[in-house]
Amino acid sequence: MPSILTESIFAAQSGDAVVFYRNSKLLAFLCITSGICSGLRSGCFGIANIILVKRLRETLYSALLSQDISFFDREAVGDLTSRLGADCQRLSLVIANDIHLILRNVLQGTGALINLLMLSWPLAVSALFICCVLSLIFLRYGRYQKKAAKLVQDFTADANEAAQETLSLMRTVRVYGTEKKEFGRFEQWLDKVAFINIRESVAYGLWSVSFSTLYRATQVIAVVLGGISIMSGRVSAEQLTKYVLYCEWLIFATWRVTDNVSSLMQSVGASEKVLQLMDLLPSDQVLSKGVKLQRVTGHIQFVNVSFRYPARAKVPVLENINLSIQAHEVVAIVGPSGSGKSTLVNLLLRLYEPIAGQIYIEDFPLRELDIRWLRGKIGFVPQEPHLFRMSIKSNIMYGCSREIEDEDIELAAKQAYAHEFISSLPDGYETIVDDGLLSGGQKQRIAIARAILRDPAILILDEATSALDSETEHYVKGILHAMRNDIKAKRTVVVIAHRLSTIDAADRIVVMDGGRITEMGKHTELLKMDGLYANLVKARTDALA
Ligand code: ADP
Ligand code: MG
Repeated sequence: MPSILTESIFAAQSGDAVVFYRNSKLLAFLCITSGICSGLRSGCFGIANIILVKRLRETLYSALLSQDISFFDREAVGDLTSRLGADCQRLSLVIANDIHLILRNVLQGTGALINLLMLSWPLAVSALFICCVLSLIFLRYGRYQKKAAKLVQDFTADANEAAQETLSLMRTVRVYGTEKKEFGRFEQWLDKVAFINIRESVAYGLWSVSFSTLYRATQVIAVVLGGISIMSGRVSAEQLTKYVLYCEWLIFATWRVTDNVSSLMQSVGASEKVLQLMDLLPSDQVLSKGVKLQRVTGHIQFVNVSFRYPARAKVPVLENINLSIQAHEVVAIVGPSGSGKSTLVNLLLRLYEPIAGQIYIEDFPLRELDIRWLRGKIGFVPQEPHLFRMSIKSNIMYGCSREIEDEDIELAAKQAYAHEFISSLPDGYETIVDDGLLSGGQKQRIAIARAILRDPAILILDEATSALDSETEHYVKGILHAMRNDIKAKRTVVVIAHRLSTIDAADRIVVMDGGRITEMGKHTELLKMDGLYANLVKARTDALA
């Protein structure tokens, strides 16, 4: 274009109408085609970007969902969600923006350079030299920018985390009156972000100064050197005009290429973690198929099981656990807090693998069973159930694979003694659950209804102490009903018990202390032994009295 443009101007000046009109038509044609092409290019890359972000997020999310539970002990949730959000977006920009702009500008720059070389190679070399200096300065600046971007990203994440924590614990903050302190915590990160942003702006200013100085310098050099050459008759005015125009193209192309390369580097830096996470192999449990048994009666055996959490590999949590639970037996596990009761259940659900020993279900090693199938046979009520933000009905139905009627849901809720309070809510079973609006006991009763609805062969209840309030009676009834539900099938029940009433209903009591089983037997037998259990019971009856 610069060449045709110059030719038309000089043709008009010399009165060459044929060349002038031909070039004008050519210019108009080029103008339209380049417009259409660049529109098409941006559109296509835009669509590619949308598809890419979607697929990146899908891949990353499915990689995350198939990780072991220990992975989630290590990684912060906020961190993972920001990878899924902002970082995926950034990574897709690499393709949609950076790469296509780099290609476009490299093409434009090369074209300009070839034309320059054809015009006059000494002038071309001088322009190239300036471009090299410009790129060096820019790459230096780009490296600085990359570092700054990383810091800004980290500090912003810290600021967000502080704000998120404060806002979600607002009740505690209000009660302790720590608003000022929390504000300071947030502000401290904002200060850091601002400081880096200011330094970045200064660096940008310096870069702008060098860019415009060098850019103007090429024009001045061209005019001075070219003017001398014109006067000595070696170069024509037309050639010099072309040179100036091509030089401009070359410099701008160089600037944009370096700009996009540095943005590419930044994106790659930010996306490192995304790629790393996407490369994680799914956990063995997701991959391996395992055996499905004909029938699960609920015979469970722990043989010499020892365990420590991967996140805290030095601290032994369970040591040499030997426990055999018969089919249809109701076993209560009691013990002081931190003695490893919930951990025992985690192992039974195969959320973690024991480091030594073996767990058997129906005399089959747990490791060889199809764990997804087995989990379908287990009903689990966690100690602190969190419900999904959907209707109570959907929460009760959650994860149930068989056909379910509304009556089944109500029946399960009745058995868990949850029906009464659910019906008293304005929207009944359609009420959208808000974690803060239900009490711990109510949430746990919904969780019990969920477990009952599955009609599991093995029922695991981690009884919550937090639910010990005025609704205790209902709550305990719900638990007992779940344990002693003879309507359909008999089942094996493992209950981590805090209340005497639940302990009473058990066939056998297992007492744990410091990751070991210390006592085992019936209520009366254990009382006679006058050990830890007798003490626990005494402490509890004292507390209730
Ligand atoms: P209990 O249910 O009997 O109160 P837990 O089984 O929850 O006790 O915990 C036993 C020990 O394991 C505690 O010392 C606890 O700090 C530790 N622990 C529990 N969960 C984890 C985890 N995800 N990562 C590391 N340590 C854990
Ligand atoms: Mg526990």
